[in-house]
Amino acid sequence: MIFLKSEQEINKLRKANKILAEILEKIGKVASTSPGITTKELDKLAEKLILESGAKPAFKGYRGFPCSLCVSINEEVVHGIPNSSRKIQIGDIVSLDLGVKLDGYYGDSAITVPVGKISDEVKKLIKITKNSLYKGIKQARSGNRLSDISYAIQSYTEENGFSVVRDFTGHGIGRHLHEEPSIPNFGPPHRGIRLQKGMVLAIEPMVNMGSFKVKVLKNNWTVVTRDYKPSAHFEHTIAVTDNEPEILSIIKKDNNKDEKQ
Ligand code: MG
Ligand code: MG
Repeated sequence: MIFLKSEQEINKLRKANKILAEILEKIGKVASTSPGITTKELDKLAEKLILESGAKPAFKGYRGFPCSLCVSINEEVVHGIPNSSRKIQIGDIVSLDLGVKLDGYYGDSAITVPVGKISDEVKKLIKITKNSLYKGIKQARSGNRLSDISYAIQSYTEENGFSVVRDFTGHGIGRHLHEEPSIPNFGPPHRGIRLQKGMVLAIEPMVNMGSFKVKVLKNNWTVVTRDYKPSAHFEHTIAVTDNEPEILSIIKKDNNKDEKQ
């Protein structure tokens, strides 16, 4: 069942996601400028910032996940578990996926950042993954079908020589971290449900440099590419409106929506 959100609920989602965006930006800066930092230190920092903001970490304890932040390095696609022996190194790319809960509503967003100098090909992987997210978001319009998002992401990514992960998808979000519908990052256009105002979606392409095939490690969480080539991940929580989609998990320079209402 897809829960349509009222304006009041979207306002709560705005607040949760704004906090999330600010914290994720900070963590991204720290990760990209602190070679030698452990992934556990990043997790602790994320958790501290979430609690200080008055929100709660959404991932900690979710289906047994032990941390507040997912940190996935290089060939790790998603769901990397922070630990105190894994250090981030120059030349790595680091995917940071963070979720928060505030006043009963969730925010979910992810970025991939480089640490120091990386190759042009990996730089391109990050850029195309980020762009593909915005290509998908652009299709999240009232009247479009769900798979218009999927098709936009896949076609753009493949035109640029990369592949999209099939085994994990985006999702609805609201009073639950994961709600219907699930949003594949691949598939033909004009299929699935018709999008409408009040839907709030977490769109999250995972893009691989090599094959789209992935596997889950023995810890039952960490997803890696089967060919061990790098992978990038970007995610935003967005609201479908009657006009342009509204990105909620973003730091708005001119965010006075609250004051207007
Ligand atoms: Mg996420
Ligand atoms: Mg998500």
